[in-house]
Amino acid sequence: MRQRIAVVGSGPGGLTLARVLHRHGHPVTVLERDPTRDARPPGGTLDLHEGLGQRALEKAGLLAEFRALSRPEGQAMRILDTDGTVLRDWRPGPDDLAQPEIDRGQLRDLLLDSLDVRWGRGVTRVVPGGGDGVLVHFEDGSRETFDLVVGADGAWSRVRPAVSPATPHYTGVTSVETSLDDVDTRHPDLARLIGDGSVGVYGVNRCLVAQRTCGGHAKVYAQFRVPLDWATDPDPADTEAMRSRLLAMFDGWAAPVLELLCHGKAFTPRPLHVLPVSHTWPHVPGVTLLGDAAHLMPPLGAGANLAMLDGAELAESLAATPDDPGKAVRTFERHMGERATKWAHFTTSGLTRLVSPDPTQALALFDEVQPS
Ligand SMILES: Cc1cc2nc3c(=O)[nH]c(=O)nc-3n(C[C@H](O)[C@H](O)[C@H](O)COP(=O)(O)OP(=O)(O)OC[C@H]3O[C@@H](n4cnc5c(N)ncnc54)[C@H](O)[C@@H]3O)c2cc1C
Repeated sequence: MRQRIAVVGSGPGGLTLARVLHRHGHPVTVLERDPTRDARPPGGTLDLHEGLGQRALEKAGLLAEFRALSRPEGQAMRILDTDGTVLRDWRPGPDDLAQPEIDRGQLRDLLLDSLDVRWGRGVTRVVPGGGDGVLVHFEDGSRETFDLVVGADGAWSRVRPAVSPATPHYTGVTSVETSLDDVDTRHPDLARLIGDGSVGVYGVNRCLVAQRTCGGHAKVYAQFRVPLDWATDPDPADTEAMRSRLLAMFDGWAAPVLELLCHGKAFTPRPLHVLPVSHTWPHVPGVTLLGDAAHLMPPLGAGANLAMLDGAELAESLAATPDDPGKAVRTFERHMGERATKWAHFTTSGLTRLVSPDPTQALALFDEVQPS
């Protein structure tokens, strides 16, 4: 009999798993808490690496569609000093497809196509070990049983407690996000500052990063070391109070750089949390995790890539061993754990260097990872 597989969460990881399973002809149920597909703004842009996110899209049969939508020019990266001096200006070569950018919304639409998601199905808990399978409890009080439940439900996973007691902890860094619209026509100076891809300005224990998304929009991220409650007091919904706080935080930086903070209509603070590096768990039959639910790490361009490759590899492992799903999941968990540990070390030390008392650390990090 076919395994009844439930994927909890329709982020990049869960959708890639479902899509690759679907491609192998395996039915799968995707359970998503959001009430509809467009319940939340999808967010900014993601760079998908050749060996990670792009590999996953290849397994999903979507690489050509990705190439058509993505922005190779978005790989451009400029680093400025806090006085506005340009320190580095990297531009991709004409055939450079190492890590093109794609908007999250475009990626989600690509993956969602051909999949049925059950919207408004928030999971509250998962109980393995029952005779008939794994019991999934929903927010509306209902329950359903599956043979395999995959927690792809992100940082605050409700599936995770079924396999591990780990919970995310605060890194000490908070990121505040805002958006710019029509940058080329309304803010041409900022459009030039951001260029085709991203600009980053690194000071003592703080940085400002802006990234182009498609359609003339851009996202701006201010990141700094503050206590966890910085984000809630005063109320972040008071846009002008938040703007004043941010401008005070970056006082003394060049005026053209500070302009990045002057036009956003709303600010969203996100204290950055992580799971312990090397988060693994003893295998629990019928339940596993992938993506942020398994290995939440600092947002340094890896998380969605890893979640997608996790999803694609778990699907392939299940398809390759249909008679022994337990073995397929154990093999997947071992591979995922090894890869995630490597990236968790890299991104953890990366965040320490990017938001550092010594801003030359940020520049040194970029010099190490950018092609010369
Ligand atoms: C500011 C920022 C920038 C980033 N930039 C990049 C980047 O450039 N490149 C990159 O690779 N990564 C980036 N990341 C990291 C990336 O966003 C995450 O690692 C990635 O989204 C994880 O994917 P996921 O599928 O595991 O989980 P998520 O994307 O978090 O998706 C989880 C899904 O589960 C749903 N869900 C949650 N709880 C429940 C529940 N109880 N029941 C049912 N459904 C539930 C959620 O609604 C959501 O749809 C960035 C992160 C941030 C914060």
